[in-house]
Amino acid sequence: MTADTGRKYRAYPTRGQDQVLTGWGHTVRALWNVALEQRVYLWEQRRYTLRSAEQCKQLTAARKELDWIGELPAQTGQQILRTLDRAYDNFWNPGHPAGYPARKKRGNRLSIPFPGQWVEVRKLNREWAEVRLPKLGWLRFRLSRALGGTIRNATVSRDGNGWHISFGVHAERKPDAPNGKPACGVDFGVAASAFVSTETTPRLMRPTLTAHEKRRLKALEQRKARQVTYAKKYNGGKYGTRLRKTIAAIGRLRTRQANRRHDFTHKLTTDLAKNHGLIGIEDLRVKNMTKCAKGTAEKPGKNVRQKAGLNRSILDNTPGERRRQLEYKARMYGSVLVSVPPFHTSQTCAACGQVDPESRKGCGRLFACTRCGHEDDADHNASVEIEARARRTGGSDINSTRSIPRVRVPATGRRRMREASKPAHAS
Ligand SMILES: [Zn+2]
Repeated sequence: MTADTGRKYRAYPTRGQDQVLTGWGHTVRALWNVALEQRVYLWEQRRYTLRSAEQCKQLTAARKELDWIGELPAQTGQQILRTLDRAYDNFWNPGHPAGYPARKKRGNRLSIPFPGQWVEVRKLNREWAEVRLPKLGWLRFRLSRALGGTIRNATVSRDGNGWHISFGVHAERKPDAPNGKPACGVDFGVAASAFVSTETTPRLMRPTLTAHEKRRLKALEQRKARQVTYAKKYNGGKYGTRLRKTIAAIGRLRTRQANRRHDFTHKLTTDLAKNHGLIGIEDLRVKNMTKCAKGTAEKPGKNVRQKAGLNRSILDNTPGERRRQLEYKARMYGSVLVSVPPFHTSQTCAACGQVDPESRKGCGRLFACTRCGHEDDADHNASVEIEARARRTGGSDINSTRSIPRVRVPATGRRRMREASKPAHAS
């Protein structure tokens, strides 16, 4: 039994708990980096694959000698090492987009995992509940919605907006019966967030920051740059209280921005899954689209600046996350998600099927077919084409096109061979 759904609540630690959790958060980061470095080192020096079982034993020994590791709950440390195993497994899995496990940087959000059997939740009243975490005691959180299942794991995290607790919950939700609603195709764009084939106007994400917030963010960034320069000049590069305050303010704004983006994505995907029986989307590999344009020293990339801007806007619309949500929501609301081959969807005429880049002349919003003269908004035309392709597959489930089972690859000779062929520091 694994977690099949998640719940996230805002947590309100006491001052003491705040300090303890912050310390743990940094320990988690350090432990991950040390464990990762150890694996890389052993592989490079002795061609030896280190896994969590062995590292867990070493962790137990280290806990006795190093206070800063000893203070972290043992279960959390082990959980991190197992997560590192999974990060490697995903990297080796050809069907998984994950890259090589990355070091956790200081500026990253803090996150402290706990296995489910070590946490206990009790409700205080209609609005508040608390969770007991090992070595921390009861942590209060705002019960903004019911848990609705058995807790499989818990994670305490801190971002620019403060602390949160999220639970992986096993709700045993069965897929809904087919809802019998109409089919649609969706063209996710950069400028327009989504064009649904059954609609006449694109669904646009509202700007994630107001004009005032944008001005404030710019001013804060400038202040930060100034304060960093000052710190380097007069303070030996040490960050002072004011600089930290500026960084925290920037973090709060960025978190607000991210939350608005998530809100848009959730509303869009829920609406698509609830009101359509068949949803066609393009099978795009996000990784390839957003690959850095910088290139190498011998082969410098083209249009680096433009590509960087495009990357930002693609990531702002979070295609991978949208797809993940559509996958589980379609199952939840009795809809079927189909991903279709993306080749030339923007150059194909939805009326006659003619493929011609000339139909998109002038790179404008207009699509004008060179054969039948069909005219339409280019994105809408693409969405209709995507719907047609989705219907042609007969509504067979998305899983037939993508999911290569995420199995653990055992440390066999075959794996070692692949490991040798992939550079150890590939990122
Ligand atoms: Zn045509």
